[in-house]
Amino acid sequence: MKKPIVVSGIKPTGILHIGNYLGMLKNAVALQESNKYECFYFVADYHALTQRYDPKEKAKEIFDIAVDILAAGIDPKKSTIFLQSHIPEHANLAWIFNTITSMGMLERMVEYKEKLSEGHVPNVGLFDYPVLMAADILIYKGEYVPIGDDQRQHLELARDIVRTFNGRFGKTFKEPQGIYTKAVRIMSLDKPEKKMSKSLPNGCLYLTDSPEVIRKKVKAAVTDSFSEVGYDPEKRPAIANLLTIYSSFSGELIEKIVSRYKGKRYVEFKSDLAEVVVSALEPFQKKQKEFMKNKKYVMSVLEEGEKKARPIAERVLAEAKKRVGLI
Ligand code: AMP
Repeated sequence: MKKPIVVSGIKPTGILHIGNYLGMLKNAVALQESNKYECFYFVADYHALTQRYDPKEKAKEIFDIAVDILAAGIDPKKSTIFLQSHIPEHANLAWIFNTITSMGMLERMVEYKEKLSEGHVPNVGLFDYPVLMAADILIYKGEYVPIGDDQRQHLELARDIVRTFNGRFGKTFKEPQGIYTKAVRIMSLDKPEKKMSKSLPNGCLYLTDSPEVIRKKVKAAVTDSFSEVGYDPEKRPAIANLLTIYSSFSGELIEKIVSRYKGKRYVEFKSDLAEVVVSALEPFQKKQKEFMKNKKYVMSVLEEGEKKARPIAERVLAEAKKRVGLI
């Protein structure tokens, strides 16, 4: 029987942080390992062009994210790994979707407004980002999408696009569903009211941070004025965030962690948390260094992925073009 399709991507716009890993990559690996899905994972390089960048740096950033995907445990023998821009059908399908998406729907996207408030240039690509994301998923008839909470609204838009498309042109696509981890939104270490984001580097724990840097950053993480560890995301977002990080990396339940630190000071909790993160990232960092030295292998993985993904994308695009009336 055909397995349901899983699709997800990561933008090459800087170094990956633990939010990317705990919110998305960890689930992407778990879905792959479950053997129940056909998984497509890509480097979202076209999406990365929507933010200001130095063209001299971009190729390296794209390569580095491909390395990170492999180091996190996405296995080319089990999943299809490729670069978005190598499959032009993504952008072609996005164009068709553009013609059935209202401006009003895109104007409501919170991520877009947030990006503008962070000082991003409001280019058309940034505005249109969710439509390309819908095409990224549906060009493989993706049904499940491992993503973080920040992408929830974009996925809703993809579902709207499916309904509009199917309503106007006949049933072609299924509405994709998000698959979320318990760590759907890892918050910034220095501004716990904001999500951890590549655009706020001071609050990030990067997957490549050395043990010393991790210890320093965790030690400096914002806490609160309570005297001991407790989980209350509403009233105590900073500590709740640290507990989520601890629990996600160690696999221990939050309640168990809280009861273990009863009567102990934050400094003890933080020092243990730092060690949990250091040891959880160790295998990733080791593999990352190995893949970094093996450029030829990484490029061959991306080529193989492209060969597998492209014919599927071509078939789906041909079907969509026929549906909308193109010859
Ligand atoms: P991006 O780097 O924006 O392409 O994000 C890659 C994936 O990481 C997406 O599925 C995001 O939803 C997820 N992600 C990004 N930041 C966070 C965060 N702070 N917490 C949880 N997931 C996140």
